[in-house]
Amino acid sequence: MIRTHLLPCGLPREEADALNRESGRTSTDVLVWHYRIYRRTGHWLSPVADERLNDSFGPSTLHAHSRDAAQQGCQKACKTAKANRGRGAKYPYRRKVYRTTVWKATGMKQEGNRLRLARAKGLTPIVVALPPELAVLPPTLFVEMRLVYEPISRRHQWHLVVDDGQAAPEPPGQATLAADLGEIHPAAVANEQGEVVIFTARDLRAINQYRHKQLASLQAALARKQKGSRRWKRLARRKTFLRARNKRQRRAIEHKVTRAITNHARAQGAKRLVVGEVRNIGNGKRLHTNAQQKVSGWSHGKQGDYLTYKLAAAGIVLERQSEAYSSKTCPCCGNHNKPDGRRYRCSACGFVGHRDAVGAVNHVSKAVHGFYGHVQPRSVRYRRPFRRSSRDTGHVARGQPREAAPL
Ligand SMILES: [Zn+2]
Repeated sequence: MIRTHLLPCGLPREEADALNRESGRTSTDVLVWHYRIYRRTGHWLSPVADERLNDSFGPSTLHAHSRDAAQQGCQKACKTAKANRGRGAKYPYRRKVYRTTVWKATGMKQEGNRLRLARAKGLTPIVVALPPELAVLPPTLFVEMRLVYEPISRRHQWHLVVDDGQAAPEPPGQATLAADLGEIHPAAVANEQGEVVIFTARDLRAINQYRHKQLASLQAALARKQKGSRRWKRLARRKTFLRARNKRQRRAIEHKVTRAITNHARAQGAKRLVVGEVRNIGNGKRLHTNAQQKVSGWSHGKQGDYLTYKLAAAGIVLERQSEAYSSKTCPCCGNHNKPDGRRYRCSACGFVGHRDAVGAVNHVSKAVHGFYGHVQPRSVRYRRPFRRSSRDTGHVARGQPREAAPL
């Protein structure tokens, strides 16, 4: 299994910027010359030709293989664009000032609890402190290191990719589960018997609403100040801080929710977990302000990514299927109804149920039997993957069951 570990970056800003600027320059040079030669000769350069081309541009401050990584960026982007041509992907054309610098395994050397990242010959290597859990790993497991700029916090971060060399385990069972990923509740998971567990995350909405509110008032205050003034800068820093903190909070919650879903799937003996295709929910038509704000604060892509790798580590496959009418179709009679708020009520047969539960059982029915209506919601339980507690008092909010906190 391949995992990426995020480590804080202690490099001075100028140094980190210089490294990524050099990577950006390298990849842009390749891109520019690639197209120049293509226009003159009509030949599309091979990956090897691209690298040779850049080696003739003169010395670089990067390690030879970090430079290769930057050079390969253009070819990789072309490959991705080719694969996604049908979906409107474009071939790379933009000049990049900065690019994430990559150290391959050959450019890294572990010394105790430190990792030395090589630069060009004659330059001192960069030393990164490893946390204890990574320092004990054999250095052959380190695949690559990336110097990533986080636009929200405006800081650099190390991304260390580690491959523990272990294949995915056998699935814990043969069952099919389906999840309806929603906005109010991150997920409702149903099994083939119609037993639904709804994973709730009120805090996620709360912190998003708080962020929107705070940012709006900060934005208003910023607009009243003179741009670049001392007070303007102070507010701008505050804004960066708020956005960065919100991102960290959201990421922590998303990890906990997806961990809880994975543990549940494992306990249910699942072989696969089917979810709807909700990736395009934020694109295309614009919803009215309130709904738009909710959707934009919800990272379905992230949640899907976290879920995919956590499930894979447990031997469970994440599958996607169309979610057309999954929340509208009545699981008892097949009639289409528009859910009213959280409640689903069928005007034809009188069925009443939880809206997310209806979506989840419809998904499991379609995944197992090929159509909606074979599985009805039998029971609905709630699970809170984390407890909201006050940092000052350690107070646990009332009504939150203590046992319901599998991390
Ligand atoms: Zn009905």
